[in-house]
Amino acid sequence: MHCLLPSRLRRVRLWMAGGLLALGLLWGACRAAVAPRNAAVSPTSTPTGTMAVQLPAATQTPTLTITPTATPTHTATATPTASATCTTSPTATATATRLPAVIASYPIDGDRSVPPDAELVLVLERPIDPAQVTATFVLTPALSGEVSWPDPQRVCFAPTKMITDTVYTVYFALAARGDASQAQVSSKITFGVGNRGAPIPILMYHQIMELSPQAEQAIRDWVVPPAHLEEQLAYLVAHGFQNVNVDRMVAYLRDREPLPAQPVVISMDDGYRTVYTAARPLLQKYGFTASLFVQSGRAENSGFLSWEHMRTLCDEGFYLGSHSIDHPDLLAVEPAEVLRQVRASKAAIEANVGQPVTVFCYPLGKHNEALISLLQEEGYEAAVSLNPGYRQYRGVYGLFQLARIWVYYDMTLEQFAAKLPPH
Ligand SMILES: [Zn+2]
Repeated sequence: MHCLLPSRLRRVRLWMAGGLLALGLLWGACRAAVAPRNAAVSPTSTPTGTMAVQLPAATQTPTLTITPTATPTHTATATPTASATCTTSPTATATATRLPAVIASYPIDGDRSVPPDAELVLVLERPIDPAQVTATFVLTPALSGEVSWPDPQRVCFAPTKMITDTVYTVYFALAARGDASQAQVSSKITFGVGNRGAPIPILMYHQIMELSPQAEQAIRDWVVPPAHLEEQLAYLVAHGFQNVNVDRMVAYLRDREPLPAQPVVISMDDGYRTVYTAARPLLQKYGFTASLFVQSGRAENSGFLSWEHMRTLCDEGFYLGSHSIDHPDLLAVEPAEVLRQVRASKAAIEANVGQPVTVFCYPLGKHNEALISLLQEEGYEAAVSLNPGYRQYRGVYGLFQLARIWVYYDMTLEQFAAKLPPH
């Protein structure tokens, strides 16, 4: 954990409770708490216990008081009567420049699967001298904890004890010390401790090309016209979604690495050449990359990506994962063949592209526990499935059954938007 590194600059005890209004800090970028809109089908192994999680009242007004000297006041109840203060330095020198914004966090807003021992981490867009600012966290329901700066671009809050099946709202504010008129940075994240998933949509594409109007449905399911892809990318950008690759999402779920707000993963299966010729220019136009799942045995075949294409795409920030050698149903072939498909495809991609391959994509979506175990033994860290939805789960069976949103030829933009987390 970054927050436990010995490079920690400063560590200050902090006591806090949610509630009250005092200095009237401007709370920017406050998004509504995320609640599932569509019926995401959970992986079969997802715990099914019911959880009566209630969001904080919508009318609540987030507030806090910052005082320059820390007089800790701890309250163990959630009554909104306490103020929370954290001063990171006794010196009071105002920064003259604009304070940096928060560009990534752990957890992200809407995550309902946060481990109870998690530390909250905020990544700033640029380093800042912690002595120049006051960083304040307020949690509702109230929690005590510690604020630390593991490096000048990260500020952490370690709550003493979060309670399972509870939804918390954390308000964060950064203010230049000694000058209340200075610009302030603030953000609000609502998250749940439990196991109801993190809202990280993985969009699933295959071929990107135009079809004739007479094309059969069996083909239309696997193709998206370039114009629709462009519309969808423009929509994602316009609505605040931020592109990440699947390996970064795995690092978030497994290693608690921060992610940007409203993350979205673009996945493209099978390694078709149209990824390079049709999708790549559009993705680049909107500042996106994609996570590609290729068949190692079809590289260089006509209609598929060449190794040279793949190297170029990796240099440009795309992620490459394995989709087996040549796409068999891995539940219907002999064990030795399953092993070959899993092992040799990884080795071939790594040898030809020079990047580690850690994420698998099940051909036809077919998988079982034995295959998941084999993937782990062979060095894979996660796998994408055909399970629908945008909620992702931690643990082996979550990471090896990442859900995806199937994008097809006749999908309207409204249908596309409705599959995404509320935004
Ligand atoms: Zn496929």
